[in-house]
Amino acid sequence: MGLSPKDIKERLKRMRQKTNDDVKNREKGGDKRKGVIDLSSLDNKEITFFKPNEQGKEITKGVYACKVDILPYIVATGKHPNNVSEGELDYAIEWWQHRSIGVNDDSVICLKKTFGKPCPICEDMEKKIAEGEDQSEINALKPSWKVMYNVIDKNSGKSNIQLFIQSRQLFHKEMLKEMNVQEAVGGEMIYPADIENGYTVLFRANDDTFKGNKFFNFSNFAFIKRDKYDYSVIEDTIPLDSILRILSYEEIACMYYQLDEDDIQEEKEDAHNNVEVEDNDEEKLENMTEEEQQRPKTIRKKIEEEEEEEEEVIEEEESDDLTGISDRKELLKIKQKEELDTKIYTKDSIEKIKEKIREARKLKEPPFDTEEEEEVIEEKPKPQRVRRNSKPKETSSSSTKCPFNHEFGKDCDYFDECTECVSEYADTYKKCEKEFNSQKGKK
Ligand SMILES: [Zn+2]
Repeated sequence: MGLSPKDIKERLKRMRQKTNDDVKNREKGGDKRKGVIDLSSLDNKEITFFKPNEQGKEITKGVYACKVDILPYIVATGKHPNNVSEGELDYAIEWWQHRSIGVNDDSVICLKKTFGKPCPICEDMEKKIAEGEDQSEINALKPSWKVMYNVIDKNSGKSNIQLFIQSRQLFHKEMLKEMNVQEAVGGEMIYPADIENGYTVLFRANDDTFKGNKFFNFSNFAFIKRDKYDYSVIEDTIPLDSILRILSYEEIACMYYQLDEDDIQEEKEDAHNNVEVEDNDEEKLENMTEEEQQRPKTIRKKIEEEEEEEEEVIEEEESDDLTGISDRKELLKIKQKEELDTKIYTKDSIEKIKEKIREARKLKEPPFDTEEEEEVIEEKPKPQRVRRNSKPKETSSSSTKCPFNHEFGKDCDYFDECTECVSEYADTYKKCEKEFNSQKGKK
């Protein structure tokens, strides 16, 4: 195609602009990774990040003394992970993220640990745990806990607001601990981010590495009373909830399994069609007796199918006792009682139920076809994951065993129970945490 000199001039102008951008972004050229932070909603506001090793004062090799003011922001969405309402003030935001996901090694916000919703990566991780997959594979899928603040660097003398993102465990928890200590020793409770009675936060950041990834350990938290900030400062801080990039279950699944959006769409449509078919059954409900209605849908379906078969294939021998009315009722009762997964109604599960009926009646001779009786019904071993309600094992204070059956020194702070451990088994928790940190230091 022919371009006029005017066309070329316009294009050259745009190319120059792109060249400028390339020069500006030369360090991150070609990196298409997406993080969990999305600044696109902030228009062209220049956002920088607080970095302890750049803005802290290096007091000895790899140890930086930092000094920041944490400032509050106005919650701007209904999607705050800690359910702080829109319009309220908050001083931090916490979330869980999976790292190195998909072809671009993206980080994604874990929907399960952050919002208590289904997360495809966690589901796959749980499957891998149940299957006894290699620990390193599982560790790679574990989400990590993050925190972010609006801060002003007090070492610099500048007053621009920066974002500060850190490990929730290594920074936020340590700071909270110290705030608590202040109260415990009879001092007043510290609210560092308060506009009226806030405190400048001092801390040390120590360089550390884990599997080639650099990170900081934080210590020596201290608080110095700061001057009042003007109320208008909350107009300048960034609403942290609005810059979290929260993906849907489908989007995460696509990224994780490296699927096209089309694949997911097809699956969704299939699922939708299935639902439609099942919805047609609803009409039948009206014609049913109460007892029939109470039966789980899949069982109703099974019985309907059986009845159809009964009508059609009369010449076939009655080898399956499911066709006997009284046994069928018995079967339903037991089936309901057992609360077996009604979605999976396989031959094996039918056999299992028959066995239950036999047991229940203590019949000497089974009334059914015994052809497959010898078959061993294999019960899948259940994963050993201990839930919140389960009673922990007895532990002595010197124990190096996880009271909740997780891996001591490795699963620290990963499970919900860990928070319980902090208060109930403080000594064990401390040892576990120490072990966790020292393992981390070694690698
Ligand atoms: Zn997850």
